[in-house]
Amino acid sequence: MADHAFVTLATNDSYARGAMVLGKSLRNNNTSKKLVALIGPQVSEPCQSVLKRIFDEVKVVDVLDSGDTAHLAMMKRPDLGVTFTKLHCWTLTRYSKCVFMDADTMVLSNIDELFDREELSAAPDPGWPDCFNSGVFVFRPSVETYGKLLEYSTEHGSFDGGDQGVLNGFFSDWATADISKHLPFIYNLSSISIYTYLPAFKQYGGNAKVVHFLGKTKPWSYTFDPKAKQISGSVQEATTHPSFLLDWWTLYASAVVPMLQQQYGDQPFHSGCVEFQHSDMVTSENVQGESSASHPQELQTRLSSEERKEQWEQGQADYMGMDSFDNIKRKLDTFLK
Ligand code: UDP
Ligand code: MN
Repeated sequence: MADHAFVTLATNDSYARGAMVLGKSLRNNNTSKKLVALIGPQVSEPCQSVLKRIFDEVKVVDVLDSGDTAHLAMMKRPDLGVTFTKLHCWTLTRYSKCVFMDADTMVLSNIDELFDREELSAAPDPGWPDCFNSGVFVFRPSVETYGKLLEYSTEHGSFDGGDQGVLNGFFSDWATADISKHLPFIYNLSSISIYTYLPAFKQYGGNAKVVHFLGKTKPWSYTFDPKAKQISGSVQEATTHPSFLLDWWTLYASAVVPMLQQQYGDQPFHSGCVEFQHSDMVTSENVQGESSASHPQELQTRLSSEERKEQWEQGQADYMGMDSFDNIKRKLDTFLK
């Protein structure tokens, strides 16, 4: 269906990596729909290039620059920046129907059947089930709806400061009007609900079609040990089931990293787009640390493993030494074999 699309959003390189994994997971599960990524102007060139290889359409959305109603709305509610960018998906009017998916989601099987549903279909939020979770939802692009949504958000704001508050306020009869708009929870299995209701997860988790890594810690915030196939780092605080994290990392390492490597060529990395290797680990750096990562660090080569890890997590990789591209590539090659 040429006028059906999955849509995601990434305003920076971290979320862009999530979008790449999501896009790949949709392709691997043979979706027949178009794939669209909305991105912010901060997403780096190499990441944009990789996104363009995975998605049919990559659209830069710069709310600040748009000079339209979105810009005006943004002036009134600067706190809702990312939310306004997300609402932009309603302007994709060359598609008759879309499914929005957060960049921190990943599909586990084909979910094209979601296009049989109507706007606004979504799964309950695990924290407050009378609200829908806005990480996965079916919608119909429409300039009229877009305008109303902007108007609504400037007037009422968002009760949770994000898009979920705005959307639940706007589509306020979701909980009561039409049960066919309640997507089964397996289309948006949020990782936190697994531990809060483990028996249900044991009973139904095997049917999950979409996993959503919601919350503060995203898959790319963990450290991954490819040899042991283990997630390390702050696992004790982990709210995500390790096997889903492992699925994310496996797809990331096998399908996304090679594309990123091609984009970066032999150049030392300058952005938060690429995984760095740290001794035995493939680890992710903090995107917010982009500025500190943009110049080679004068790092001592004799740091202890713990100290190096800390440097890594602050985005201060030793690009010219231990963490040079060749070393990273060698490490990843071993991992991929
Ligand atoms: N997002 C983004 N940049 C940000 C924050 C969020 O692009 O700085 C997008 C991204 O698609 C993300 C979605 O907005 O998946 C919702 O945010 P998030 O997933 O972090 O919220 P949660 O699901 O944890 O509540
Ligand atoms: Mn999310």
